Amino acid sequence: MYDPKSPHAEDFINHDEILATLAYADANATNAELIDTIITKAELRKGLSHREASVLLACTLEDRNQKIYALAEQIKKDFYGNRIVMFAPLYLSNYCINGCVYCPYHLKNKRIPRIKLSQDEIRREVIALQDMGHKRLALEAGEDPVNNPLEYILESIKTIYSVKHKNGVIRRVNVNIAATTVDDYRKLKDAGIGTYILFQETYHKDSYEKLHPTGPKHDYKWHTEAMDRAMQGGIDDVGIGVLFGLERYRYEYAGLLMHAEHLEAAMGVGPHTISVPRIKAADDVDPSSFDNGINEDTFAKIVACIRIAVPYTGIIISTRESQSCRERVLHLGVSQISGASRTSVGGYADPEPDDAKSEQFELSDRRTLDEIVHWLMNMGYIPSFCTACYREGRTGDRFMSLCKSGQILNCCHPNALMTLKEYLMDYASPETRRIGEELIAREIEKVPREKVRDIAKRNLAAINDGQRDFR
Ligand code: SAM
Repeated sequence: MYDPKSPHAEDFINHDEILATLAYADANATNAELIDTIITKAELRKGLSHREASVLLACTLEDRNQKIYALAEQIKKDFYGNRIVMFAPLYLSNYCINGCVYCPYHLKNKRIPRIKLSQDEIRREVIALQDMGHKRLALEAGEDPVNNPLEYILESIKTIYSVKHKNGVIRRVNVNIAATTVDDYRKLKDAGIGTYILFQETYHKDSYEKLHPTGPKHDYKWHTEAMDRAMQGGIDDVGIGVLFGLERYRYEYAGLLMHAEHLEAAMGVGPHTISVPRIKAADDVDPSSFDNGINEDTFAKIVACIRIAVPYTGIIISTRESQSCRERVLHLGVSQISGASRTSVGGYADPEPDDAKSEQFELSDRRTLDEIVHWLMNMGYIPSFCTACYREGRTGDRFMSLCKSGQILNCCHPNALMTLKEYLMDYASPETRRIGEELIAREIEKVPREKVRDIAKRNLAAINDGQRDFR
């Protein structure tokens, strides 16, 4: 039966327990008394069990739903303030031997050009990303032990960290590659990666096997237990997620929470991030051929319910989503967004024409990084290029305890402002810089500790005079 400490994924993300959870949630979707009790528990900001959280997701009482949204927004503010961390994906190779039916990189797709970047091409991509102002990347690659062996990924990470161009370096490389062995995870850790990200795609085992009919990714157990192996290999920041649209969203939500519960119970630290991708059109992929698409309202509710159930986790939304959708979920719990992304291999240095179709999926938000930074600041958010926690070794449970203590505000707020200042000085348009300077002047006064505030003000002045990268 369900035991979050169990070392075996198929025990902890148990199909029967998920079905029982959904039945319990259905039966209580209008149970005002129970829903109020769960909301009161959520107000303690210690999270919820998958059963409790699933009741909130199923809740159909409009006034209670408004309470859920308001609480999600407040928890987001309490844990993450108004900072939004910025990143960009970097596609290294679209060679892939898997058969994922929703992904155009699948082996049988002979129409898309297969590209694998050389180390020189990676350098060009990194320079193009640095020229925009990015400091944090998420590496993406298909699974192909011949074309993209781990050695290639490791060499690429080394290359990325080594590129010194005008205003500094890429400071954090997160990695989204296929499930692998403990030894390989240890090598990734030694290469200095930030978060290891792997989407479960779906927690429904039967569907998973049908959606991944061929290739190593077909193995549900291997895929589902990847985060346990990653943590055994020493990686303590892991990012989970599902691809919404493949299965029933409430099933996936319960699975995600059980995964988070398991990581916390068995490994001592929950997921550093949870991503909420939705399936998008791609070369030979029509999202309407999947039956479980979710509308914007449902999507917003999922984000709010993740925020309430796992208050400390970062929530990531990509440029798969439109500006208006992103705007809505930023309020409800999202703490990291990508900007100016390209999902084609080599797409930063050589943007491909719109009809070239080698991108992994279509993007809904195609704005420049400057436009996104401007938009965030207009809404009162602080776009943050900060990577300090990772660089200072505040990962895993050290990050979580900082986050859970609420002290993250004292520490992260000034760091975010300093990295924003660097961005404004080095990359922003005059108008973005103008509103950014005003924002910084306002926000720096909110740093609670006088000593920290004074240091931050001195650092901001030094950045103004040309210094960079305070640590
Ligand atoms: N090869 C790795 C793996 O197997 O997990 C990694 C990465 S893949 C480049 C990154 C993610 O893109 C996948 O995990 C999947 O969730 C997502 N993805 C694939 N096809 C998509 C589509 N058509 N629309 C939206 N997201 C998609």
